[in-house]
Amino acid sequence: MGHPSDLYTMTISAASAALEAGDISAVELTEAVLRRIDAVEPQIQAFLTVTADHARLQAQEADTRRSQHGRLSMLDGIPLAIKDVICTHGVRTTCGSRMLDTFVPPYDATVMVRLNQAGAVLVGKTNCDEFAMGSSTENSAFQITRNPWNTDCVPGGSSGGSAAVVAAGQALGSLGSDTGGSIRQPAALCGICGLKPTYGRVSRYGLVAFGSSLDQIGPMGRTVRDLALLLSVIAGHDPLDSTSAQQAVPDYVGSLTGDIRKLRIGVPQEYFVEGIDSGVEQVTREAIAVLRDLGAEIIDVSLPHTRYALPVYYIIAPAEASANLARYDGVRYGSRAAAETMWDEIEQTRGAYFGPEVRRRIMLGTYALSAGYYDAYYKRAQQVRTLFRRDFEQVFAKVDMLATPTSPTVAFPIGQRVDDPLAMYLSDIFTMTANLAGIPGLVLPCGFCDHLPVGLQLLGRPFDEATLLRTGDAYQQTTSWHTYQPTLS
Ligand code: GLN
Repeated sequence: MGHPSDLYTMTISAASAALEAGDISAVELTEAVLRRIDAVEPQIQAFLTVTADHARLQAQEADTRRSQHGRLSMLDGIPLAIKDVICTHGVRTTCGSRMLDTFVPPYDATVMVRLNQAGAVLVGKTNCDEFAMGSSTENSAFQITRNPWNTDCVPGGSSGGSAAVVAAGQALGSLGSDTGGSIRQPAALCGICGLKPTYGRVSRYGLVAFGSSLDQIGPMGRTVRDLALLLSVIAGHDPLDSTSAQQAVPDYVGSLTGDIRKLRIGVPQEYFVEGIDSGVEQVTREAIAVLRDLGAEIIDVSLPHTRYALPVYYIIAPAEASANLARYDGVRYGSRAAAETMWDEIEQTRGAYFGPEVRRRIMLGTYALSAGYYDAYYKRAQQVRTLFRRDFEQVFAKVDMLATPTSPTVAFPIGQRVDDPLAMYLSDIFTMTANLAGIPGLVLPCGFCDHLPVGLQLLGRPFDEATLLRTGDAYQQTTSWHTYQPTLS
């Protein structure tokens, strides 16, 4: 047991065990996290809202519950942070946008209902790129979040706040959302673990929509075991989300056997080509060698359509975004710019309250969906999307999972890519095919390059998160990359 002031460094599973043993209380744990937020938040700027009073109340309730009837779940009394695109009843939810500056949802997202039923403590809502569009969190309308490993660098994005808080000890775990890499890329850049579940595994009800056929909510934490704990609570069918799957939720924690002997792991050649930083490639290959030493069979494979991922993603995601964001017209909710006529009002509202990246996406998407271009762009992109799915189907007939780099580079300096959208878009080149094909992806820290963390990505068969988690956990049982923590003054 650490000194009470170090409690914020604990993993969820260690804290859960300590709570159960009565070594610590939820109030002590939450107070330690809140003190840590006070101490480092001026440097990190990861929260848009800190819910300190609410957290204290929830922690007290967790302690009372435990003393009277026992805990609700392994997450009972655990302080978590939630990306600000996930609706929280009574707690401001901005999506990093001026458009929703004052929006207080009158309901909870399904993942929040489930976390509340499990007894988790909400410490705050985290910064993100506006409407989750971006790879550095610099598109937030409110503030720039810093990477805890080097505060001159971005934390990645769009779930940069959710990644930074876990790395900096401002929450024990968090939720993010991933449309093209937004959980996995910031997890890699901040040296933590993140999981994008299979499309349909976790309810999207109450997640503010970006690209509805791509979006998934997923867990972020210090260890793969912690992700398994979080996923166990948030996964499962939800009648409120018609795209959520009627699939049984396996025992994720029970599947962490540490044994990956005979597992076949494919290494796709297309993920080790031009553009990848040589240091990142080397660290990734070393991690794959560790999996081989643990008894997995490493097999070279090919996903021939990978090179179309970027153009296809940047037609489909903006097309869906342009439809989803049509609701922000200044009438139903959100900010409103007053004008003479209704059309002026809508135009001025969007001009005043959407940032440049969001406007760019709406323009791109509207163009791709317009009558004369629909077949040439949107329909064609959907056809190529099927080819990605087939690439994966064919390869998963031969191997149980794939191991790849997460992002071509480590965290980059703040400001470096903001004026070059294409350079920014390339940050997610290794992550977006998983969203296009709907398959799960796990990221875990596997080393450092230029003193910044590198993440290994494991991609799995649809609904086979358990095998990814087992593999990631086996890796963490024999390596210590996940135990490194940034030093913050
Ligand atoms: N960076 C990608 C984009 O800007 C992915 C974002 C995400 O996954 N939400 O669209």
